[in-house]
Amino acid sequence: MTLSRFLKKMLIARQLTFKEGHFEMLGIRGVNLPVFTLTRFIEEMYESQEDAVFDMLFRAGVKHGKFGVEQIGQKNEMGKKEFFHRAIGSGNVMGLGKFEIQKLDLEEQVMIATVSNSPFVEAFEESNVLSDVDGPVDHLQRGILHGIAEETFETEISSTEETCAFHGDGDTCRFRFVAR
Ligand SMILES: [Zn+2]
Repeated sequence: MTLSRFLKKMLIARQLTFKEGHFEMLGIRGVNLPVFTLTRFIEEMYESQEDAVFDMLFRAGVKHGKFGVEQIGQKNEMGKKEFFHRAIGSGNVMGLGKFEIQKLDLEEQVMIATVSNSPFVEAFEESNVLSDVDGPVDHLQRGILHGIAEETFETEISSTEETCAFHGDGDTCRFRFVAR
């Protein structure tokens, strides 16, 4: 298996470190969990909380996005566009799919982003508990992007997952973020 160029760069720059049970990315401690484990956790939550679990995933994602902005922003001086691409690029090592910005208009305060190859799409399709869920399923990723956009636009925004691969063909989910 080959490492992506981004991952290699991160390892060389020591932005990814693994040492005696301690894993760090960009100076932030993390954990590597199998999607299997995360999906069982979501199933357990869904069985007791129903759709509320999706809002929880979204809100946790928003906090994650804002935290990431703080962490990256503190250490680096850069323009907003560069910052956006860097923040989204660092999302690509988390295993939550391939994040890409399709459109970014800082004046109109609109961002369109896609996530391909989401682990949730695959896991939900295979789950006995989650395979009948209506609507899009990538609430965590939408939350992360929402948090990044809100901090960067410096205003409240609304977000939607316009098309989710869980219900459609292909493997790409499309999200829209606009100032409220
Ligand atoms: Zn999706």
